[in-house]
Amino acid sequence: MAAGAAVAKPRVLLVAPRDSYRTAPYIAAAHKLGVDLLIASEGKHALAAMDVPGVQIDLRDVPGSLQAVLLAAQAQPFVGVIGTDDASTEFSVQACMHLQLQHNPLPSVRLARRKDLARARLARAGVPVPRFWKIDLTQPLDSQIADVAFPCVVKPVALSASRGVIRVENRGQLEKAIARIVAMLADVPEPEERLTLLIEEFIPGAEVAVEGLLSGGRLEILAIFDKPDPLDGPYFEETYYITPSRHAPGVQAQITACVAAACAAYGLREGPIHAECRINDAGVWMLEVAARTIGGLCGRLLRFGTGYGLEELVLLHTLGRRPDSRSETGGAGVLMIPIPQAGILRRVEGILAAQRVPYIEEIVIDVREGYELVPLPEGSSYLGFIFARAPSPAEAEAALREAHACLHVVVAPLWKGGVVYAAAS
Ligand code: ADP
Repeated sequence: MAAGAAVAKPRVLLVAPRDSYRTAPYIAAAHKLGVDLLIASEGKHALAAMDVPGVQIDLRDVPGSLQAVLLAAQAQPFVGVIGTDDASTEFSVQACMHLQLQHNPLPSVRLARRKDLARARLARAGVPVPRFWKIDLTQPLDSQIADVAFPCVVKPVALSASRGVIRVENRGQLEKAIARIVAMLADVPEPEERLTLLIEEFIPGAEVAVEGLLSGGRLEILAIFDKPDPLDGPYFEETYYITPSRHAPGVQAQITACVAAACAAYGLREGPIHAECRINDAGVWMLEVAARTIGGLCGRLLRFGTGYGLEELVLLHTLGRRPDSRSETGGAGVLMIPIPQAGILRRVEGILAAQRVPYIEEIVIDVREGYELVPLPEGSSYLGFIFARAPSPAEAEAALREAHACLHVVVAPLWKGGVVYAAAS
């Protein structure tokens, strides 16, 4: 090195879809850890607004995008590549393969994104999963759904955040739900993902989300989140996530074992995983494991218990560094504020009162006034987030409920070709 030259910071490539909630927390974490972050994204303007260096890619043109990444690496090599969301995990693995960096096997990451392939793999490996029926939309429906048991859940094979996931009670509802999901998938470019649906037996019970980090195939659990509201459908809006879990230690051990078995069945070995499980008298059931972190802004909840935000933990893992462990007592939680009805957001009232509720740390309203609110199953964005930290998980949950009760979301109906779109209340 030339005399006086500065020591280069380790450089990490972050592959993020346009408008990802995940980009800003990663930029903040990289800044804190002294990491030089380059963002590969499909949105030129999104990067300019964040004032961080970026390389523009097009995930529909993988060879061209890999070329762009290789060029960027020639200027200064990367020590790792992180895919933030489902849309970018496979490309990130391909980038690692070209850059000769540590990575998950490509088929494993693909399995984690495709619910139909994942179900088949988990069932073969003996991981408890609901009974399922794979539906080929190019074939007549009748014979494919003849032995479906009700209630069941019908879902697309490659969407996330509960989009298009619908519980139905009978054959008539099933046919309507299928038609609704087919309409949602019209623009999906990959034919198999557009023309395949999954039907699953409905698994009753409590649900948890699990955040973990894999190193050389070994799973470290970062947090188990309880979801205290019943999730019985017909749609499955994510609302409350509370940590640490209040499930008995034995149940938590079963959850950990189930997630580890699923990761092993997929062949996942490195990096973050996010899983959802259900628990009932028959035991712990695997709903899904994704090869990425939790979505939205929820990563900051990891600061509770570890002292680090989730994005810092993922970056440290990419650098091959282990964080010093810290122990904390108390509880933390987030409410992903439900969208009360379809329409145009006029305003959110009561934010100040909600902020004054004890143990509330922050309220983030993400949708700007005048923008359209689309609830599940078609919608994909959150209205916003409320964060709480309290002496116990129960108090964190109570604070979130009290703060939510202070909010009044004013929504105007949306006129579309003479039809008023507003949810029946
Ligand atoms: P996504 O990847 O879009 O989140 P999931 O398959 O994880 O889709 O389903 C989203 C939510 O729907 C789950 O968190 C769960 O609450 C509910 N759900 C999905 N499948 C089932 C099932 N077979 N039984 C009960 N609930 C289910």
